[in-house]
Amino acid sequence: MQRTFQADPMPRPIEALIHTEALAHNLARVRAAQPDARVWAVVKANAYGHGIERAFEGLRSADGFALLDLAEAATLRALGWRGPILLLEGAFEPRDLELCSRLNLWHVVHCAEQIDWLAAHKTQQPQRIFLKMNSGMNRLGFRPEAYRSAWARLDALPQVDEISLMTHFSNADADPPSPLGVALQVAVFDEATRDLPGERSLANSAAILRHGPVAGGSLRPCVKNDWVRAGILSYGSAPDFPEHDIRHWDLRPAMTLRSRLIATQQLQPGDCVGYGSTYRAHQAQRIGIVACGYADGYPRHAGTGAPALVDGVRTGTVGRVSMDMLAVDLTPVPAAGIGSEVTLWGHGPGGSLLPIDEVAQAAGTVGYELMCALAARVPARVASAAAVAA
Ligand SMILES: *Cc1c(COP(=O)(O)O)cnc(C)c1O
Repeated sequence: MQRTFQADPMPRPIEALIHTEALAHNLARVRAAQPDARVWAVVKANAYGHGIERAFEGLRSADGFALLDLAEAATLRALGWRGPILLLEGAFEPRDLELCSRLNLWHVVHCAEQIDWLAAHKTQQPQRIFLKMNSGMNRLGFRPEAYRSAWARLDALPQVDEISLMTHFSNADADPPSPLGVALQVAVFDEATRDLPGERSLANSAAILRHGPVAGGSLRPCVKNDWVRAGILSYGSAPDFPEHDIRHWDLRPAMTLRSRLIATQQLQPGDCVGYGSTYRAHQAQRIGIVACGYADGYPRHAGTGAPALVDGVRTGTVGRVSMDMLAVDLTPVPAAGIGSEVTLWGHGPGGSLLPIDEVAQAAGTVGYELMCALAARVPARVASAAAVAA
């Protein structure tokens, strides 16, 4: 016998909420830290997992958007963004330059091949370039000694409009002694770009907060920027956690991942939880089973002890994270039961807060990875943080 649904099936209780007002607040923090710079909102990787359309609403007061996927650039144009868009890795192949012309995309040039492609590109519209220096990170860019000749080659091309100068820090989230500190990279950059014209862009989130004219202050060298590149901080994760957390920097989580309890278990002393029986109760203990697992993007490495909120009360995970479920200790929340709200990260009920950085730390990773790993099967929607607290 065939069964048909009378109504739409209820989804699993898990959902991701994107807080556009938090994005706007965090962007305002960038402006406060870097009052003289224009701001690229970095929205690569589908806006760090938040969804480019959803993030666009919260970040539209940025001066431009920086990303690296051409399809995401096209999405921004389709959303009506007419301002600057920067491709952080530039063209991947020559035909990408046609899209740059068509959509008026600014792009990074980091290697000689990209200059060759530009020289062969037929366009009426000269293109705006950010010329990247490898000042020590050894990922992308021209070495300092090759930078000036790359600039001169570009400057001579009719396909090229203004050239801006950029580099990227490998250790802006920590003070020396790291082998390659911000001050050293700045010195390399300044030396190689001395008397080259053009705007400068050096700072990522960590440098914005730690090396700006306001926050860095007398503590650390101030990095001068015409354009800063704000990524992770816009999404409400502290780039230098655990030295500083989002409260220190006055940042707000832009993503809440929440679900509900779908079962509870009463453990007796000696009972184990989950695959591998990695957690064993030492005394009678009540636990809750949460509809959230690694197939939702929750880190499997979290294991026992990762923080979570149940009905806004802080507790911790127990046992291994499985594909669709994880377990939490209900000792601090005896009233919790099936249907109780579980905040995996972000804003919880009653104004409670669980920074994603704390969950990431428990899993041996960083907030960046958790946000970006949010699985496609988790429904995401825009909702204010106040609505979550209610
Ligand atoms: C991703 C990226 C950024 C942003 O870094 P955050 O640490 O997220 O602020 C800045 N610049 C470049 C070149 C990047 O690729």
